[in-house]
Formats: sequence, C-alpha cells, structure tokens
Amino acid sequence: MAGLYFHIPFCRKACTYCDFHFSTTLDRMDALVQAMRTELLRRAHELRGGTVDTIYLGGGTPSLLSERDLSALLSDARTLGHVSDAAEVTMEVNPDDVTAEAIDAWMRIGITRLSIGVQSFRDDRLRAMGRAHNADQSFRSLELIAKAGFTSWTMDLIYGLPGMTIEEWTTQLDQALSFAPLHISAYCLTVEPRTALHKQMERGDVIAAPDEDQAQQFELLQQRLEAAGYVHYEISNFGKPGHFSRHNTSYWQGVPYVGIGPSAHSFDGAVRRWNVANNSRYIAGVNAGDVYWEEERPTVAQQANERIMTGLRTMWGVDLAQLPDLVPTTERALQRYLDSGHLVRNANRIVLTKAGKLLADRIASDLFLSP
Ligand code: SF4
Repeated sequence: MAGLYFHIPFCRKACTYCDFHFSTTLDRMDALVQAMRTELLRRAHELRGGTVDTIYLGGGTPSLLSERDLSALLSDARTLGHVSDAAEVTMEVNPDDVTAEAIDAWMRIGITRLSIGVQSFRDDRLRAMGRAHNADQSFRSLELIAKAGFTSWTMDLIYGLPGMTIEEWTTQLDQALSFAPLHISAYCLTVEPRTALHKQMERGDVIAAPDEDQAQQFELLQQRLEAAGYVHYEISNFGKPGHFSRHNTSYWQGVPYVGIGPSAHSFDGAVRRWNVANNSRYIAGVNAGDVYWEEERPTVAQQANERIMTGLRTMWGVDLAQLPDLVPTTERALQRYLDSGHLVRNANRIVLTKAGKLLADRIASDLFLSP
C-alpha cells in the first residue's frame, strides 16, 4: 500500500479544458464528505496491508473544503490506516482559496505539500480558460506559500495554448521561477472530448496551437528548468532533488493505492476499481450500501501496456525484465526507436531520449503488447 487518494469533486467554475469529474453545485458538500468518510471506514481493511506513505487530496478543488472537513478526512485516514509519520500529504489548491489563515489551517491539520493551480500569469489566458482566479491572486498566493514552510510545494502551468508564442512562454517561466518553487508540473494543453474547449474548437472560435509550437515550448521548458536545477523526472514534472512527488511516483511505478470519492480509482496490485463519476449517485450508493463502482482485473498484456505507458514517461524508463516476453511487433518497434535515437537501452531498461520525449505517447503505443 503506497497511497490514499481523496477526490474532492467541487469547483467554483468549470474550466473550459477540464475533463475531470467535478460539480459547480456546492450545496451537497456536507453529504459528500460524510459519504467519503463512510466509504473510507468500509474500506479500511484495504489500507491495512502496509504503511500508507502518501495521501493526496485532489479534485476538483480540495481547497474549497473547510478545515473541519479536511481534518475529518485526514484524521479518519490516520485512525483507520497505518499512516507513516513521514507521510507526504499533498493538497491541490486554487490561488483564490489561498490566504494566510487558510495556510495556517492546512499546516495545522498535517498537510505537508501544496500543489497550486496557477496555469498562467496572464489574466486574458485565465479568463479564456474559464479559471476562477486572476493573475494577482496567483502572485499573492505564491508569495504566501513560498514562505510558509511546507515540506514541499509545486505549481501547475499550462503551455501549448492557442496563439501562445515562445516569448509568452519564456515570460511565464521567468515569473514561475521567480518564486523558486521546489517542483513544477507543466502540461501541454490537450483538447479532451466533451469539454467546452472542444466545442469552441469545433465551432472554429478557438484555433489549436500547431504541434511545432507546442514542441518548441516543451523544449524551452526542459532547457530553462534543467538550467535552474530541476530534474525532469516525468514528461510533465520537474523537481528539485528530494522534491519529486512521492505519491505520483508510486502511482507510475504501479504501487497499489486506494481512491475514495466519486470517480476515484483504486488498484490493489491485481484489480482496478473506479467509483461512479456522479456526486448524487455516489452519495446514494454509499448510503444505501449499494455497488457504486466498477472493477476489472487487467490481463497480463494490459498490465504490461500500463507499465510501458507510465514508465516510459519517467526518467527511470521501463524495465524489460518486468514485462512478459515481447511480441514480434514490440521487438520491431523497440529496435526501430533505438536505431532512430528516440530510445536508449541500459541493460534491461529502456528510456526516452530528448527526441523521444516529444513522441512519448506514440512510442508507448507502438510498444504495446496488445491493441
Ligand atoms: S479547477 Fe481544476 S478540476 Fe476544477 S474545473 Fe478547473 S481544471 Fe477542472
């Protein structure tokens, strides 16, 4: 057991690009938190297989919850599971929720790491993305967080935005680095089906950034952050030594975790489970003692594909010794990418090169052991 994840499915506004599960109707928060506490209590046996080393409050917007609710979830976890004294306890926060008082409360209840959703330092970008905060709130919240004394903290940025120039991205990175974060996650904008952004693009109101621009911005990101002492340990993640996300790293390495809340996923080493992505059905299901989740036992090939997909995105790559025998199509694709310089092989491990990182998803799917 590595991790415990809580999904807090509420947001003030719907961001145009987001396909996570959340609701902007906030009036069922109490009922939802109560249902999550009940779910955790019922699944406590799943936590007892070992020490819980990381807890992650994600969403949605966990910083919308009161200190009382956050504290209840964390103290339930500590009472019901063996949570390590040195556990990493991360919470995602939005800049508009960050105040000196809130920071004091988060530290008091044992949050050790904050992940702040900055996304951009430009008001026009934030408005276009439908974010609930403005640039001023980002600056003020970062000043507070940087000096608050959390064990670690990270900020999220988005690049590859429509019309983004390399100059704009350079300025964004300069502004981010001026706060000396211990970790940065930078995501290239992806257009997910059924999002407002997808509709805007279908209508022609928004034009996607060209692939070449996104690739150029990704290269700049790597250069700037590596020059500033960050280790590029996963495609979208850069950390100062000692500040990699322990929770996400365990997840990428296939370590079991328990997910609590609507839409939360769990993995016990053999079975994957995912809760219903609907707040009302989740609350009703938990309260009635019904089944409000689905599960599947991935095949050997599916497990191998997941290892390839997640492992290849990390600096540790994929250990071929942990995969079943490679099928001929995988053997051929592997050789092709080694020859073209997109992959390197050290003993049994294959790792993406700088050129390979630009094509990570395509390379991974070409290496899959089954469709
Ligand atoms: S705040 Fe985060 S979870 Fe909520 S809509 Fe925006 S991107 Fe999605």
